[in-house]
Amino acid sequence: MYTPVLEVNLGKIRYNAQKIKKICEKSNIEVCAVTKGFCADLNIVEAIIDSGIDFLGDSRIQNIIKVKKKFPHVKYMMIRIPKISEAEEVINYTDISLQSQLEVIEAYSQKAMSMGKVHNIILMIDVGDLREGVMPEDAEEMVGKILAMKGVNLLGVGMNVGCYGSIIPTVENATILIDVRNRLEKTFNIKLPVVSGGATCSLKLLRENKMPKGINNLRIGEAILVGEDSTNGIMLEDLYQDAFILKAEVIELREKPSVPIGERGYDAFGNQPEYPDKGIRKRAILAVGRQDVRIEALTPICPDMEILGASSDHLIVDVTESKEKVEPGSIIAFRCGYSAMLSLTTSPYVEKAFIS
Ligand SMILES: *Cc1c(COP(=O)(O)O)cnc(C)c1O
Repeated sequence: MYTPVLEVNLGKIRYNAQKIKKICEKSNIEVCAVTKGFCADLNIVEAIIDSGIDFLGDSRIQNIIKVKKKFPHVKYMMIRIPKISEAEEVINYTDISLQSQLEVIEAYSQKAMSMGKVHNIILMIDVGDLREGVMPEDAEEMVGKILAMKGVNLLGVGMNVGCYGSIIPTVENATILIDVRNRLEKTFNIKLPVVSGGATCSLKLLRENKMPKGINNLRIGEAILVGEDSTNGIMLEDLYQDAFILKAEVIELREKPSVPIGERGYDAFGNQPEYPDKGIRKRAILAVGRQDVRIEALTPICPDMEILGASSDHLIVDVTESKEKVEPGSIIAFRCGYSAMLSLTTSPYVEKAFIS
């Protein structure tokens, strides 16, 4: 077996996607399944489509083009504010894009007209997280200008939280979005059928029956893939959390002190970690490192193992308490959180294996 290997359980992803679809459908919310966290791998995309979801979102046009070529019937939304320089591809391969900048929208309108098309857009409203979006008080002026453009069709409004400002979705900020939509519909006498209320972290409002009426679209990645809502710091217990498992091989096994010996500088990544003194410990070095995976998002499957640290190519695990026998050549397994999945699917050094 080649290692490191990322084992992807497609059945668990399909189950999670079905479950999320069902929860959202009950509240008349459409799910846009987000594929950027796993480089839109076609096996995983197929598992999501098999769940009955036919609306996908991604931040990278290369991913969208790849999936559209294989599954032309799916609807795709560009979820990163798109670049002016990729307008032709975005208009050609996506059905909707999230937008926030007047100059970009103007460029997309011009390009769409030159292609004989009309491109659907959702205007992002900043409700406090301070990543993309127009401030609520500036939305009307901007929409006035958008409605004058012939190459774009304003489908609705959207919000994003939990990313830059780590602001969590609340009844209050979701209501700001709905109020903006209502105001725009009235001022301009238009219909804005889509109100996109955020990502995985917005599911909490739904599950607590607090989602304000009017939100009718959510863009979900993390919950479907790893069964977690890291913004709110919770595991979603009715979903699988272990669809992505990393397996790596032990290349050294030794008993060593837990505190490094000598004068201290910085580690390979510019940090000065603390090393608590636990005496002599049995430590396994594994052939995988920070070049492949964000180790902070790994959890050993064996609860009695502990990750001590890592450099570019080495991961060090304390196996002193392990009931499982560990020796050079042993394979150790880890559950992957979102950022571990993201890095592992991006690394060319990691093999991918699919379990249906
Ligand atoms: C990544 C992203 C999402 C999906 O977020 P999850 O937390 O994985 O559900 C939704 N919307 C936008 C704009 C994103 O960039």
